[in-house]
Amino acid sequence: ASAPIITIDGPSGSGKGTLCQALAQHYDWQLLDSGAIYRVLALAAIHHNVDVSNEDAVSLLAGHLDVVFKPSDEGVKVFLEGEDVSRELRTEETGNAASKVAAFPRVREALLRRQRSFRQAPGLIADGRDMGTVVFTDAPVKVFLDASAQARAERRYKQLRDKGFDVNIAHLLAEIEERDHRDRNRPVSPLKAAEDALVIDSTSLTIEQVIEQVIDYADKKL
Ligand code: C5P
Repeated sequence: ASAPIITIDGPSGSGKGTLCQALAQHYDWQLLDSGAIYRVLALAAIHHNVDVSNEDAVSLLAGHLDVVFKPSDEGVKVFLEGEDVSRELRTEETGNAASKVAAFPRVREALLRRQRSFRQAPGLIADGRDMGTVVFTDAPVKVFLDASAQARAERRYKQLRDKGFDVNIAHLLAEIEERDHRDRNRPVSPLKAAEDALVIDSTSLTIEQVIEQVIDYADKKL
């Protein structure tokens, strides 16, 4: 008997992060931000001067990744080899480098066990691209959250600007489209909805409406 899981997959800027935090709070469950793991790995490669296009070197690094997630008042802080990288982690450059290392099958393989170890009682909210299709295929509740690229770029813009980053919306939209294209078209674990996932298009929904829909759906299935 393993702990129940709600998987939330979807492209960047679809509102997954906010939704997952709200769900983790509502159910008082663990939260896995799998994107953060790929982001930390990309940062580790950059810090160690490892070429992000070298699958051998990056998968070796993935097997030895020293990362710690610490809850704090300002959300979860992320430490790479003891250094607080929480801010650097959220930039679009890091997201882009993450999506490059995430395309390698051996990198994904090396990170599987680490991700599955987050499954603990009383339950887990898993946020990512392949949570329902690869990592937790037996999850009782799966959601795929989508939104138009334009809506996602606008949300990302507000998010980054509120955190004090200097961002340009046209540039952001181009980066989001490039990253999505790579995530959706890679041969291993491409971004797509699981067959048994509830698909929600959040383009014209508020985050509160999305949260309510998912909780209603999950409560029926759990
Ligand atoms: O969700 P986030 O923007 O933090 O993810 C960064 C990148 O990590 C994504 O663009 C994707 O390429 C990769 N990723 C993945 N599988 C996951 C989560 C993230 O390939 N489960």
